[in-house]
Amino acid sequence: MKTKNIEVVVAPGEPHYVGDGFRVHNFIPSRRYLDMQRTTPFILLDYNSKFNFPPSDKPRGVGVHPHRGFETVTIAYKGKIAHHDSTGSSGVIGEGDVQWMTAASGVLHKEFHEENFSKAGGDFQMVQLWVNLPAKDKMSKPKYQAITHNQINKFNLPDNGGVIEVIAGQYYNVNGVASTFTPVHLLNARLNKNTKADFSFPSNYNTALLVIEGSIKVNATETVPVNNFALFKNDGEAFNISAIEKSIVLVLSGEPINEPIAAQGPFVMNTRAELALAIDDYTMGMFGYLED
Ligand code: MN
Repeated sequence: MKTKNIEVVVAPGEPHYVGDGFRVHNFIPSRRYLDMQRTTPFILLDYNSKFNFPPSDKPRGVGVHPHRGFETVTIAYKGKIAHHDSTGSSGVIGEGDVQWMTAASGVLHKEFHEENFSKAGGDFQMVQLWVNLPAKDKMSKPKYQAITHNQINKFNLPDNGGVIEVIAGQYYNVNGVASTFTPVHLLNARLNKNTKADFSFPSNYNTALLVIEGSIKVNATETVPVNNFALFKNDGEAFNISAIEKSIVLVLSGEPINEPIAAQGPFVMNTRAELALAIDDYTMGMFGYLED
C-alpha cells in the first residue's frame, strides 16, 4: 500500500461566534485549499476549541434556523448541548456523545448550551461537521441518530495504547454505529503517549484529521499540534499517527460525491433553482414550526 501524505496543515484561524454559544474556528470550506468540492462529502467543519464559558442563567446558543440538503454531525468533547427541532424531537448531546442529524428535505432547529451546564459554566469543546447528501437523497425524510458515548463501538489498541472510537464506517473489525448515505469513516482516536495507530482509506476518499487534544506526528515526519487540521493528498492509502503526548484526534475520510454543489447559508443543494426553492419553501413555512 502506498503512503497517504499530508497536503496541508491548517492552524486555527480567528474564531467567530455562531449565535452567542459556539466560538468556532472554521476549517471547511473557508480556506483556499479547503473548498467544498475539495473535501466532499465533508462540506463544513466548525470547531469550538476548548473554551471556558462563564456561568449564565440564560443559555447561550443559536436560535431557530433551517437546514436542507445535507446532514449535521455534532461531536461533543466538553460541555453539553440541548437541541430542539420542528419535528418535535429534542435531546441533550453530552460529553463523548454524537448527534447525527439528517436534515435532508428540511428541518428547523435550535442549539443551545444545556441549562445546567450553562448555569455552572465550564469548558466547552465541540465539532460540527456537515456531510453532504447525494442528489437522490437530498429530499428524503429528516431523521436523527442520537449516539451516546457508550453506544460507540471501540477498537482497543494493543499494549494499553488507547482506543479508536468508530462513530461511522470501520476500523479493522469494528463497525460504526451511525448509518450514512455514502461511505464515510468518522473515528475518534484516543491515544496514550507514545502510541502509534495506523489507518487505511482508499486514495480517492477525501481524508483529514483534527487534533482535539495533545499533539501528534503523522507518518513519523509531520507534527500536527493541538487545534490544527490536516488535509491529506489523494495519492495513497495508508498513514499512521503517533501521539507525542496523550491525544485525541478526529479522523474523517469519505468517498467524494461528485455532483455540483449550490450552497447558500444553511441550504446545500445541486443547482441554483433548488436553492431558490429551498428559500421559498422555508419562507412559506414548509419546514414546520419551532418556538424561539
Ligand atoms: Mn444547525
